[in-house]
Amino acid sequence: QALYAMESWADGFYAVNRQGHVSVCPIEGQTLHIDVMKVIRAARAEGASLPMLIRFQDVISSRVRRLNLKFQDAIRECGYEGTYRSIYPIKVNQLHEVVAEILEAGQEFNIGLECGSKAELLAALPLVGDETLLLCNGVKDATMLNLMLNAQQLGQQVVPIIEKYSEFDQLMSLIDARQIKPRMGVRVKLNTRGSGRWFESGGASSKFGLTIPELVKLVRTLENREITGQLELLHFHLGSQLSDIQVLRSAVKEITQIYADLVLRGLQIRYLDVGGGLGVNYGADYNNPDCSINYGLREYANVVVYTVKEVCDERQVPMPDLLSESGRALTAHHSMLVVPVLGVHRPDSPPATDLPLELHAVVLRMKAVYNNVLLTEKGGILLECYHDAQEIRRETEQLARLGYLSVENMAQSDRFYWSICREVLHKLAAAELNPVPAEQLELEKQLTDLYLGDFSVFHSIIDHWAIGQVFPVMPLHRLHEKPERRGQVVDLTCDSDGKISQYVSSAGTVDCLPLHDFRQDEPYYLGVFLVGAYQEILGDAHNLFGRVDEVHIYARAEEKEGFWIEELLKGISVKEMLSQVQYFPNDLDRRMSEFIRRQINAGCIKPTEGTRILNNYTRHLEDTTYCDICAGDPL
Ligand code: PLP
Repeated sequence: QALYAMESWADGFYAVNRQGHVSVCPIEGQTLHIDVMKVIRAARAEGASLPMLIRFQDVISSRVRRLNLKFQDAIRECGYEGTYRSIYPIKVNQLHEVVAEILEAGQEFNIGLECGSKAELLAALPLVGDETLLLCNGVKDATMLNLMLNAQQLGQQVVPIIEKYSEFDQLMSLIDARQIKPRMGVRVKLNTRGSGRWFESGGASSKFGLTIPELVKLVRTLENREITGQLELLHFHLGSQLSDIQVLRSAVKEITQIYADLVLRGLQIRYLDVGGGLGVNYGADYNNPDCSINYGLREYANVVVYTVKEVCDERQVPMPDLLSESGRALTAHHSMLVVPVLGVHRPDSPPATDLPLELHAVVLRMKAVYNNVLLTEKGGILLECYHDAQEIRRETEQLARLGYLSVENMAQSDRFYWSICREVLHKLAAAELNPVPAEQLELEKQLTDLYLGDFSVFHSIIDHWAIGQVFPVMPLHRLHEKPERRGQVVDLTCDSDGKISQYVSSAGTVDCLPLHDFRQDEPYYLGVFLVGAYQEILGDAHNLFGRVDEVHIYARAEEKEGFWIEELLKGISVKEMLSQVQYFPNDLDRRMSEFIRRQINAGCIKPTEGTRILNNYTRHLEDTTYCDICAGDPL
């Protein structure tokens, strides 16, 4: 638990139970814990294949409640005279059930939605009815603006947020043609720049938002048209995963001053929208702003509420209703990916004892070093042995290149060398030398095992590959056993980037993970956590690995195991995946059967064998795109 710095990222939702399994405590304030291994077993029994995404729907509700209650607390404590609503940006996770869960949990808090494209708008319009606020960001063409005006005519609370001045011009032409008054908001480019990886979303040179001169021009146009009452919202967005709370404070001050100016000028702006950016702790590395944030939900809410109040009091203007567009903070925790380990590649193997071999002198020297290492515990001697082994290895390679060393001798020398390395590392680590010798660090790197996981980094955690986002990874069981190995998790893709190269640990971000010895006849499952925001929709199909199976879990104390599977969604099949790249099953089948018939006619195989091979090919088109085999399966 401590090894994987669980405290820093679990946010009270994940723990380790008495059986040494990861457990989930999805409902705030309840002691009900769900054993993840039992979820996997139940899902397998219902036909789910691996890898598998598990969604704990109650975690979404807990996060929605937590965020809204923190704002309510702040509002009450400081006597704020407006209200707060959170607005969920569906781009973060558009899955219908996720959005539905957020809307249901947020009903008592008046939660709203945000969309950023035509498809998202069309998905959201029927969900919001006539009470839920729907904010529309992103680039908007005439079609989208017309859809929004239609929704406003229907009485829906749809507010286009002007991001570019040309959008405003277009909106004005449309309302002239339709003779209606639109509701609208404006995104403002602030001088404050974000902090963390997405800092470019904010600041004067950001892609979206009106500059202050453009805002003034827009306001003048509204004044000339005598429709200033139509501008009801001011918005900014500094970028996702804000690492530093002071940046938010500065931005909120800046936007509230603009708000106060406009209100004093006679505008009736109702909402102040502080955008997204509320971050999540992915680990304990406070030096890495991509991984950690320096605030919690309470501080976030306090900074927004108190700062707006302070400026409004100073400028003697009414306090606006507050909105925030938090997505990551609502969804990241609720889903985890279960990755079965298929096998392990180790750089070393023990020296063979049974080779009927005349060993070359150089190999005998390597063997002597190995024997010396076995006899000593002293740091200095261990390092000397390691240096000797390195030198002998160089000689071995030279001899092999010149043809003076047989492959069997090379193999034996290699085995001795890696055994020396492992033994030296083991003993140096036990000696706890301070400072840690450079050789020890070098050996730790070299002796990392590669754990082959049945998953694709590019599909399931693309931000790890694309932007180096660190996700918590740990075994889901055997957590009472000391993990004796150090591993890196590699995926199924034929791509050397297809690996998890950074891990969360209590010592910060590290490049390998403490793992257990892999046993061929037993399943070994790893969990990748906090994957509920952005990953699912951004994931790609490298090597045609596609959507994985997923199960939606609700925690219920009255159920035998404390949960029930509300839904099992099958991942994409090979057939469906191939159709997306224009290989159609009928055509593939026809080509395959024609080829097999030719081979039968040529006498290459018997007709019965040909039929068997064809059926086998056709059947596997229905498979998942992953291996879906697991050591020791079934559990
Ligand atoms: N609002 C806007 C305009 C965004 O562009 C984004 C995403 O970056 C969000 C909200 C969601 O941000 P987060 O997931 O950090 O809360």
